[in-house]
Amino acid sequence: MRPAVFFDRDGVVNVSPGAGYVLSWDTFEFSPGVEEALKVCRNRGYALVLVTSQQCVGKGLITQAELDEIHLQMQTQLQQHGAQFDLILACTHLAGTCECRKPSPWMINEAASRLNLDLSRSWLVGDHDRDIQTAINAGVPQTVRILSHHEPKVIARHTLDSVQGLATLLARHLPEAHA
Ligand SMILES: [Mg+2]
Ligand SMILES: [Zn+2]
Repeated sequence: MRPAVFFDRDGVVNVSPGAGYVLSWDTFEFSPGVEEALKVCRNRGYALVLVTSQQCVGKGLITQAELDEIHLQMQTQLQQHGAQFDLILACTHLAGTCECRKPSPWMINEAASRLNLDLSRSWLVGDHDRDIQTAINAGVPQTVRILSHHEPKVIARHTLDSVQGLATLLARHLPEAHA
């Protein structure tokens, strides 16, 4: 069993679209430094898993196929840095209509069973209380919060002002997965 680093998408992998959604690849903008952070995780032997809520599909603003296309483009770019995700899980449902939406641990548990992950040694990076609470609910002990305009109520182990410091933080604190 290997550990994973779980990443939220909007506000972590890509610049937050604010109150709206990323509805096309043209408006998807990688957060500066995220490729380096993903690479640190991969080099240390961690699985890379994206767990994202994309209610825009449930609302009919884009189709599942359009969301998949955005993720395909994202993976193609990340692959050039050797930093692509091993698995992408997206809750596309309207809030209150499913069992997978964060802070439910459903997506993390699903990833754990598909990839045979050791959650007790896993990490999560997010920018919202919901993300940190998801990690807590799933028994993922190590959390990194990227500060955003949301007032933090759920306390993470580590906090950063921006994704730019993430590679350095992980290089300092992320143990070798095989150690
Ligand atoms: Mg987010
Ligand atoms: Zn869902």
